[in-house]
Amino acid sequence: MSSVEIDLHKALKHYFGFNTFKGLQEEVIKSIVGGNNTFVIMPTGGGKSLCYQLPALVKDGTAIVVSPLIALMKNQVDALRGISSEEGIAHVLNSSLNKTEIKKVKSDIKEGVTKLLYVAPESLTKDENIEFLRSVEISFVAVDEAHCISEWGHDFRPEYRNLRNIIKRLGEDIPIIGLTATATPKVQEDILKNLGMTDANTFKASFNRPNLFYEVRPKTKNVDADIIRFVKQNAGKSGVIYCLSRKRVEELAQVLQVNGISAVPYHAGLDAKTRAKHQDMFLMEEVDVVVATIAFGMGIDKPDVRFVIHHDIPKSIESYYQETGRAGRDGGEGHCLAFYSYKDIEKLEKFMSGKPVAEQEIGHALLQEMVAYAETSMSRRKFILHYFGEEFDAVNGEGADMDDNIRNPKKKTEAKDEVVTL
Ligand code: ADP
Ligand code: MG
Repeated sequence: MSSVEIDLHKALKHYFGFNTFKGLQEEVIKSIVGGNNTFVIMPTGGGKSLCYQLPALVKDGTAIVVSPLIALMKNQVDALRGISSEEGIAHVLNSSLNKTEIKKVKSDIKEGVTKLLYVAPESLTKDENIEFLRSVEISFVAVDEAHCISEWGHDFRPEYRNLRNIIKRLGEDIPIIGLTATATPKVQEDILKNLGMTDANTFKASFNRPNLFYEVRPKTKNVDADIIRFVKQNAGKSGVIYCLSRKRVEELAQVLQVNGISAVPYHAGLDAKTRAKHQDMFLMEEVDVVVATIAFGMGIDKPDVRFVIHHDIPKSIESYYQETGRAGRDGGEGHCLAFYSYKDIEKLEKFMSGKPVAEQEIGHALLQEMVAYAETSMSRRKFILHYFGEEFDAVNGEGADMDDNIRNPKKKTEAKDEVVTL
């Protein structure tokens, strides 16, 4: 064992209180500590933050962490301050700081106190910030949620496109670390190209969730009754039901309540107080079910969600994977049930018709993959993992029998045809 290895375990214990690294963390951290461009693809909850936080803590200089969401940055900074006696160990640099606060951030960085500096891309583009950062020692730049760079990702942000140029202005040869939970080969290619790091050491964890059961049912006009029956069969278990529109969320929550199911609605049209209340009720198990739009889920970490139902099919496999991924975090049962009707696809296509042509084309392609998933008669898990560029053995792979098509196979001829196209 090299001395680096020993120190990393010590640092892990010292800073984070963990005894072992999770998944590929140790290899990733060695790559970053070694000063290499590094690309990390791990599912949500895989432990990506620690991959750059630990190297930042043990290396000289300040690491810059680019992140799209102020709330996420604040959470991380608070957590880091909690593990150190030094308040200045982590800072956020953004436009809401006043002069005194900015001065404090800058002096902490200059004195070598600050190991991690979180910035939104729009703050990083400011000349005065670039000028300042050029004058200090930067250990590396970590680009979190790196899929924001790609139009093929689920959260494209044009500001991310300029990062490569800005990083270059900060100094020659600053290592870049890209991290994402988006596993599609197209997005990965975009990230490597846009960040100018095709030479990066790449670490990709498996996206297989063997404890999740995947099922698709035809969506008829009786869909509400079907959902009620399913929820009643799973009485007492926690579940999330996703709908496309706020209106549908409200309606379905009411229908469930009328049928004796404890359910609350959640969508961005509710005021912040109600949203927080409903979220807490779900987390504290005062209600079994949340009926929600996709506004629900960011940062939700309830380990024992037992089912995720899609009343409406989502706009991409990527979204479907993220949303169903909220089930069975604890490794226990997680039933993912989607109701599918081609009419819904047409509706989604129509929503996109006002958008720029390039966006429409991408949206259409993503949606067609979703159709193929819903209509396939072969292993759904294999389909999802194939979409993410991962091979899956549909016979012996982990969780192979955890889907409706495998449990209740359809006609053989049909299945054969589709094996060829996948
Ligand atoms: P991601 O960004 O990949 O979605 P996070 O960085 O938010 O994941 O980490 C998810 C959870 O895993 C956090 O609660 C974190 O504390 C925990 N975690 C990370 N590394 C380890 C480890 N080595 N041992 C135990 N828990 C860990
Ligand atoms: Mg993360």
